[in-house]
Amino acid sequence: MKVSIITVGTELLFGQIINTNAAYLSKQLNLMGFDVMYHFVVGDNAKRLEEKLIDAYQDTNIAILTGGLGPTQDDITKEVVAEYMGAEMYMDERVKSDLIEFFSKRNRRMTDNNLKQTYLPIGCTPFYNATGTAPGFALEKDGKIAICFPGPPREMTWLFENGARQYLEHYADKKMYYKVLRTVGIGESDLETVLLPVIDGQTDPTIATYAKEGECALRIASQRTTIEDAKNAVDELIIDIDRYIGEYIYSYNNKEINDVVVDLLKEKNLKLSSAESATGGMFATTITDIPGSSSVFISSYVTYTPESKINDLGINGEVIQEKGVVSPEVAMDMAIAAINKSGSDIAVSITGYAGPDADEGHSPGEAYIGYVYGDRQGCIAVNTSRSLRDWNRRYFVLMMQKTVYLLLTDKMQ
Ligand code: ATP
Ligand code: MG
Repeated sequence: MKVSIITVGTELLFGQIINTNAAYLSKQLNLMGFDVMYHFVVGDNAKRLEEKLIDAYQDTNIAILTGGLGPTQDDITKEVVAEYMGAEMYMDERVKSDLIEFFSKRNRRMTDNNLKQTYLPIGCTPFYNATGTAPGFALEKDGKIAICFPGPPREMTWLFENGARQYLEHYADKKMYYKVLRTVGIGESDLETVLLPVIDGQTDPTIATYAKEGECALRIASQRTTIEDAKNAVDELIIDIDRYIGEYIYSYNNKEINDVVVDLLKEKNLKLSSAESATGGMFATTITDIPGSSSVFISSYVTYTPESKINDLGINGEVIQEKGVVSPEVAMDMAIAAINKSGSDIAVSITGYAGPDADEGHSPGEAYIGYVYGDRQGCIAVNTSRSLRDWNRRYFVLMMQKTVYLLLTDKMQ
């Protein structure tokens, strides 16, 4: 069944509030198996709202509206929907008694305009609101369904869960299942090219790729009559996808790479340490973000200046002098120092130019990641060729996480 979402509110058009209602509804409706075809955003204007209702029903049977159910003059959604459906209004006694109780409990005076909220279109299914004053409702006529929610997100989500979801389930003819795979080390366009044989001619499950800084996610979604069918279809396709890009996938359930790294360390009963320069401790932060990381992470040595690298890590000053502080040699020595000082099983290090500037002969975004794990040790050169400090530092951290991930999974080349 196809659905449109119409969010009403001039504030939305002004950019004063973010349209979280549309995002929430879209997500829930898709998961329920509806096809969300359109998002319309319209100001508090009766004529334009009516036009968008007409547009919505051109192509979809269900219009879901949020906002404009309040007590004031500019709240027009209910009236427009009722008029469009040719429904008169009635005063709902339950809404009225709820409203009187709501105000008396809070010792607030009820104004006349509040009574506006007690009116609902005749023939509707009311969704009584325990979190605010305006009820939601569903109204059906000639196969067209309108479902209205008040604008405040807390009220909207409550009414969706406590009324609308059950009402809508009856109309959901398909069930949706999806998985998000996360990859690192392959760009979005390469990913799509490599997966062309799988993607080509594929209508269900669908495959969508999303690029994030330095990594790429794949969403595999299926809509079938039962959730089991959808799940089987997704799992089958993942087996296929695995054949093409298995080496790049670090998570099959949308887990972040730091989470995956901590899980792997726990599983293998290994301890990690790091020595950080350009990232200033950010790598350690992402690891210690994960609850329980204390059982696998020993320490990070944040040594920002050359002196600190010499004094705190014991890096040879001559190496720094000769090779430069941002060099594979220094990165290597930092990783070795981290493993020796902490007694960890695995260590990763970074030295680099976060930007926007770099020393002569170097460019911002240039960095070296050193690693030691048992008898394996080495250094990875990174160069983003960007001067964006924030971006570079996040990318460096991702590459450090990736390095540890590749070592732990024996995928390091
Ligand atoms: P009220 O009774 O509070 O007036 P209402 O149903 O008339 O509710 P609006 O007046 O349109 O709804 O919006 C009330 C508040 O709800 C807005 O100020 C905003 O904070 C929030 N809101 C409205 N629409 C959205 C939306 N689409 N996404 C996120 N927040 C929203
Ligand atoms: Mg309002």
